[in-house]
Amino acid sequence: PEVITVQELAGRMAEKASDLVKALFNMGMPITVNEAIDQDTAELLVTEFGHIMKRVSDSDIDIVHDEETEKDDPATLKPRPPVVAVMGHVDHGKTSLLDALRGENVTAGEAGGITQHIGAYQVKTKKGGVITFLDTPGHEAFTQMRQRGASVTDIVILVVAADDGLMPQTIEAIKHCREANVPMIVAINKIDKEGANPQKVRERLLEHEIIVEAMGGEVQDVEISALKKTNLDQLIEKLALQAELMELSANPDRPAEAVVVEAQLDKGRGAVATVLIKRGTLQRGDTFVVGAESGKVRAVIDDHGKQLKKATPGMPVEVLGLSGVPSAGDVLTVVENETRAREVASYRKEQQNKARTTQAPVSMENLFSSVA
Ligand code: GDP
Ligand code: MG
Repeated sequence: PEVITVQELAGRMAEKASDLVKALFNMGMPITVNEAIDQDTAELLVTEFGHIMKRVSDSDIDIVHDEETEKDDPATLKPRPPVVAVMGHVDHGKTSLLDALRGENVTAGEAGGITQHIGAYQVKTKKGGVITFLDTPGHEAFTQMRQRGASVTDIVILVVAADDGLMPQTIEAIKHCREANVPMIVAINKIDKEGANPQKVRERLLEHEIIVEAMGGEVQDVEISALKKTNLDQLIEKLALQAELMELSANPDRPAEAVVVEAQLDKGRGAVATVLIKRGTLQRGDTFVVGAESGKVRAVIDDHGKQLKKATPGMPVEVLGLSGVPSAGDVLTVVENETRAREVASYRKEQQNKARTTQAPVSMENLFSSVA
């Protein structure tokens, strides 16, 4: 059965409808823009253009942007820092840990001690090189990003308070990691506290099929105190080891692709997005499309509030110069010119509005995940 018109598919793929028609013609299928095609044909076409298609149901498809399908030539890949997210139950010490790691390692006196809060930052470690930490507001953001095919996290630190043990959000985090296939390092926190029982945490983890090293398994674990800064070096070492195994790399010499970690409207600065560079190099002056917004990079600002000329893979930066506020998980793609950027953005906006007003059985995720 026919599931989508060429026109609509083109929109979701952020390609020109006429290019799709041409490709179809070359494949021996003379089909016009307003005609509908079936899933198999759509898949052929989507693949032809280097995107990936997911069959949501018998009657609906989703275009997923998948870096695996648009691989860079291996010769262009260079090592990049790991991107680490801290997850765990509320009050188990996620923020304290991030603060401790940052405080410990930020070069004293840097930028006059002014450290702006952005949703992500980098730490230069003595033993692990540069590590990017994501200060995600919660599991929701993680899930949201993942659902949109925008996987940003390489490694998760699962924080479990040794006095409280496994709690609902701990278990939820384990589920997320498993589904996203992201390796986890268990940080058993608050070992300074009376009543702390790290062994009990390890045993409870077994029930969820997490076998930590101390129990003869392969998941790295470390007992820490974020408050007293105990064993943070060990945690960094384990992170570095895990990152090394993963051989993380990206091509820095191409137009940038980044994922929005958070975004808001800032008085005076306008729409500001914190993005994580996935590949390529983002430069001042670059034209881009991000979700249903577009823009021209007016400034690239690092986690110390410093203006940069460019940002490379693994770096979290603030971007100024957006037409509006995008959503977390939106992909920022540098495109050749402003006309193209506006074209794609306005198409997406139109779709967004349509979905809102007609309550079409198309989820927002479907609409957002198409990428130029
Ligand atoms: P989050 O909700 O996971 O971000 O947890 P927070 O970092 O806000 O910590 C919650 C509370 O636990 C705060 O009062 C922290 O001071 C405290 N806390 C965090 N880490 C430790 C620790 O290692 N030892 C002790 N004793 N308290 C801690
Ligand atoms: Mg917190």
